Amino acid sequence: MTTTFQDLGISDRIIQTLLLKGYESPTPIQIQTIPLFLSGDCNIIGQAQTGSGKTAAFGIPIIQNITEKTGRVQAIVLTPTRELAIQVCDEMSSFGGIKGLNIVPVFGGQPIPIQLRALAAGADIVVGTPGRVIDLIHRKKLDLSHLSYFVLDEADEMLNMGFIDDIKEIIQHTGDDKRMLCFSATMPKPVLGIAKKYMGQYEMVSVEKVKE
Ligand code: ADP
Ligand code: MG
Repeated sequence: MTTTFQDLGISDRIIQTLLLKGYESPTPIQIQTIPLFLSGDCNIIGQAQTGSGKTAAFGIPIIQNITEKTGRVQAIVLTPTRELAIQVCDEMSSFGGIKGLNIVPVFGGQPIPIQLRALAAGADIVVGTPGRVIDLIHRKKLDLSHLSYFVLDEADEMLNMGFIDDIKEIIQHTGDDKRMLCFSATMPKPVLGIAKKYMGQYEMVSVEKVKE
């Protein structure tokens, strides 16, 4: 029998937005991740190939769990490139729009005043590239001390691009009371190393690449 979005514990409100997007059923990484995320408070490492729906695997349960605006940033997603930051922001906004959550993309190459204004208007979730995130932290325009969720997206790419020190520095600026999520198409040792160093306990979900 096919697994449905209802089976995963996703709220009817969010399911409506998924149907509008044309999503008919969850992908394997979503089937593994979403119930695990929603049923407890574990940190999660998720591996599944590119194009397998990893964004929704973390994006849907984060949006579902954020029940009210607090006036502080509650979740941050770090991505390796500005294109991915925009994509993840758009995808999370499509689930989160109904809740009125303000999801703000921040990345290099765009004039910083635009992003400063967006943050000042009250960001609930920030999606950004490491360099710009650090810049905004240093300017005291981005406060990550009250985070509930910290996501490293496309972690293998992020390490390939040399963002390891930036990631470590950003983690130093976050509070202790957060869940960490790390998603990647591949799981080389350095990615696991980062996860182990900063996560302590975690659950690992992995979807084997289907051979063609
Ligand atoms: P990944 O991060 O694993 O590379 P994405 O999260 O970017 O993959 O998703 C790839 C594409 O699949 C996107 O266009 C996304 O909107 C779409 N998608 C994700 N989940 C589903 C689903 N359950 N049904 C249909 N399309 C989906
Ligand atoms: Mg992705």
